[in-house]
Amino acid sequence: MKIHEYQAKQLFREFGVPTPEGYPAFSVAEAVEAAKRLPGPIRVVKAQIHAGGRGLGGGVKVCKTLEEVQQRAQQIMGMQLVTHQTGPEGQTVRRLYIEGGADIARELYLGMLLDRDSGQIVLMASTEGGMNIEDVARDTPEKIVKVWVDPKVGLQDFQCRKVAFALGLTGKTVRQAGKFFHALYALYMAKDCSLVEINPLVVTGSGDLIALDGKITFDDNALDRQKEIEAFRDLDEEDPREVEASRWDLNYVHLDGNVGCLVNGAGLAMATMDILKHYGAEPANFLDVGGSATAERVTAAFRIILGDARVHAIFVNIFGGIMKCDTIAAGIIEAAKQVGIDRPLVVRLEGTNVELGRKMLAESGLAITAADDMKDGAEKAVAAARAYAASL
Ligand code: ADP
Ligand code: MG
Repeated sequence: MKIHEYQAKQLFREFGVPTPEGYPAFSVAEAVEAAKRLPGPIRVVKAQIHAGGRGLGGGVKVCKTLEEVQQRAQQIMGMQLVTHQTGPEGQTVRRLYIEGGADIARELYLGMLLDRDSGQIVLMASTEGGMNIEDVARDTPEKIVKVWVDPKVGLQDFQCRKVAFALGLTGKTVRQAGKFFHALYALYMAKDCSLVEINPLVVTGSGDLIALDGKITFDDNALDRQKEIEAFRDLDEEDPREVEASRWDLNYVHLDGNVGCLVNGAGLAMATMDILKHYGAEPANFLDVGGSATAERVTAAFRIILGDARVHAIFVNIFGGIMKCDTIAAGIIEAAKQVGIDRPLVVRLEGTNVELGRKMLAESGLAITAADDMKDGAEKAVAAARAYAASL
């Protein structure tokens, strides 16, 4: 789960990670009120969306007067902000953050994330802040310093110093960096984060270290014990199909292709996407209905897949182990009744209760193309999607 910059900064303050004073605003009037609470004269109006690169897209504006704050807030609120992370359609700005202007001497990069290979938390930093860290990693990897934190012993002072020196910090800023990194690590652990990114981490003219941006991603599996974090969720920032899918406990990711997939098991779901690509189509989604799906949930899955007009065919690929083939068949029949399946449907069933499942589908009177195996199903689904597109 992702949160907004202003929410991340609220957590920063809670844990003692220094960040400029600022207030969220949900309207232009609130933006002006927020600006008045700041000492000024420089204030920054920042669009709040769950994507980076806002500055380049016109979503971060430094203002010298209150009038300018109002003008910029008016411009940014409601705009369709396009950044390299939003896709070409962009994201509607519904919230703003009004922050005091910082006296920036240097812009650095700081990130903390789980390194799955070592099972440790990696703290990464770079002198090349403010820009795309992926580009730095590709073009000048030597400019990124990393230390690995063993969760059993936690972040060590020597590791903080190593990072601080690599960033070229001196004097009191080195001491501040130690406190800063420890506070960030405490936040990371306490709140079950999977990523904390501060880009830029700023050294001010007076040598103080502050977080000028803040991005945090949380481990979804931990939200049960992180009610405060869950309350930060902003459904406007999420794909409505994925929100609906999560209501039904479906593991669904929306993609841009033309063949919808309904599969059980994450591995089989990945393989299904691969084989569709292999035969020349693009998957419209990743979907793992899980082992304990009911007919009701399968119906919900169909509704979500069919809600995407780009879907020109659906490929159901079930290997029934815990999931029973007759449950899937019942879900398909129920979905046909409730939502009407108006696009070609290719079904490959294998495993527990497969005979019963096939019989139910055969007797349902639905126009279903049965597939012998996964390869056959994928080829048929790709062909059906082409034929459907040609008939439009
Ligand atoms: P994004 O990464 O989405 O573009 P940032 O919060 O990193 O958004 O802001 C982009 C740039 O805007 C920063 O690199 C910094 O130069 C400038 N900026 C952001 N906040 C402030 C601030 N409070 N004071 C001065 N400059 C700022
Ligand atoms: Mg940034």
